[in-house]
Amino acid sequence: MDYLKLADMLFPDVKLTPEEIEARYPERTLPEGAKVTRIAPSPTGFFHFGGLFPATVCERLAHQSGGVFYLRIEDTDSKREVEGAAAFITKILDYYGIRFDEGVTAEGDKGAYGPYTQSQRVDIYHVFAKKLVQDGKAYPVFSTDEELDELKALDKKAEIKSVNWEEEAVARREAMIRRREFTMEQVEAELAAGHKFALFAIADGDPEKKFKITDLVKGTLEIPENDEDVVLLKSDGIPTYHFAHAVDDHLMRTTHVIRGEEWLPSLPKHVMLFRYLGFRLPKYMHIAQLMRLDENGNKKKLSKRDMGANLDDYRRMGYCPAAVNEYVMTLLNSNYEEWHAQNPEKTYLDFPFSIKKMSASGCLFDIEKLNDVSKNVLSKMTAAEIFDGVSGFAKTEDPGFYETLTADRAYAESILAIGRGGAKPRKDFATFADVKPYMSFFYDGYFTREDPMPQDKDKEDIKKALDAFAKTYDGNDDQTAWFEKLKDIAETIGYARETKLYKKAPDQYKGHVGDVASFVRIAVTGRQNSPDLYEVMKILGVKRTLGRIKEAEALL
Ligand code: GLU
Repeated sequence: MDYLKLADMLFPDVKLTPEEIEARYPERTLPEGAKVTRIAPSPTGFFHFGGLFPATVCERLAHQSGGVFYLRIEDTDSKREVEGAAAFITKILDYYGIRFDEGVTAEGDKGAYGPYTQSQRVDIYHVFAKKLVQDGKAYPVFSTDEELDELKALDKKAEIKSVNWEEEAVARREAMIRRREFTMEQVEAELAAGHKFALFAIADGDPEKKFKITDLVKGTLEIPENDEDVVLLKSDGIPTYHFAHAVDDHLMRTTHVIRGEEWLPSLPKHVMLFRYLGFRLPKYMHIAQLMRLDENGNKKKLSKRDMGANLDDYRRMGYCPAAVNEYVMTLLNSNYEEWHAQNPEKTYLDFPFSIKKMSASGCLFDIEKLNDVSKNVLSKMTAAEIFDGVSGFAKTEDPGFYETLTADRAYAESILAIGRGGAKPRKDFATFADVKPYMSFFYDGYFTREDPMPQDKDKEDIKKALDAFAKTYDGNDDQTAWFEKLKDIAETIGYARETKLYKKAPDQYKGHVGDVASFVRIAVTGRQNSPDLYEVMKILGVKRTLGRIKEAEALL
């Protein structure tokens, strides 16, 4: 067959050559060992939490090596596309500090290796498609997309071996061989009738033969050669993932393709396409999917429908991006926690991330662990940083509280400063959302009485204690003087001045100074637990402190 003629018939409008395209995408001038990585999400309006793992690995590997990290949007499946999804992806990743050097941005493309959106690259794919036809490596199939979908479905079914799988495989193979056989006249007639074609690459592999390939986390793999023809272009001329992956990652000079493990079965196809196209194969890393434990303790894929599968859920739940980053790094590199314990002031961006420390078996999602990591991260932040985080979160998620909080920044910061900054900072919150219930009693509009006075204590004693406190409270007392007064009150109502006195002889007292503090705490904050009571009163001021005590007395 005259492949040159066939190529011209199929792609009459393609005038450029692969060499001309190559010239637009020169080798990058980067330092020795610099890695070029990318993430290539589809714009579906959903970004899986698990996607943060490859994104983090790509970002770290590129930036640790002085390389380039870029964002490509893979929108070849227009059926799944959601309006504005690319902007959503850049925004959400930016929120998590995943910064790209190149690619699609909210303001348009940035970088010299674009366009970075696949639907804008169709002309480029066609140049290489034509080349494959010229080389006798690709052929047209004049079927509708529905017919092709059926074909695909059959291929999928073949992965689940039925009783007749051998016969079915033979039938599939025969159908494939038949598809490859056509005459120039047939093509001419189809084209003349205005029919569309899909383009297939002819598989040249022997499935009995295996070849070796190194995956950066899985090690050396032995995988069968590809013996299935690969759809390169669908009948609308749009490429499949396989073809676009080869063309784009070559032209954009990606050195490391880091992607989900679900692409591993397609690797033989990709290796074949790179070879057909004469492209150097990039290094591959296939990251296992994020797992969770189900009710029975079995590992399950964290699926799209699971709570916490959407990366944006964490923003809406109020997780601090830095905490999520820390958590992801903890799962990615087994030595991260140890390093961080030794370098508490540093962030994950200072950590020497290493592929060697990655586990091949994948990560298990554990919300408890995330919360632990988060509490740690938030405990080390300054009051001003917490304020910024909480107000940023409240702005979209709790506008009422946002108004209250930002009406007096200094006041809010003084609350957040309680117990902060010392060697053992309080670990009160895992998320910015936890801050509101923690501090709400400082705001009259949010103050509610949540906990009752202890039921086992005499009401009259409580009353007496609150009364005495109100009479003697002086906003200028230092903490020692303040506490001495509580001790005095304890004594006057038959409670022990010191907790240890009470412990030695519990039958001699009705309670101890801690109980008195508790009465006052519940009266002032409405809760049994609160930040340091002395500090709380200082911030509330004498008037409000006494007002709340009076109110509590009246409720007794
Ligand atoms: N669009 C593909 C996906 O979302 C990208 C895979 C890749 O990184 O090559 O899974």
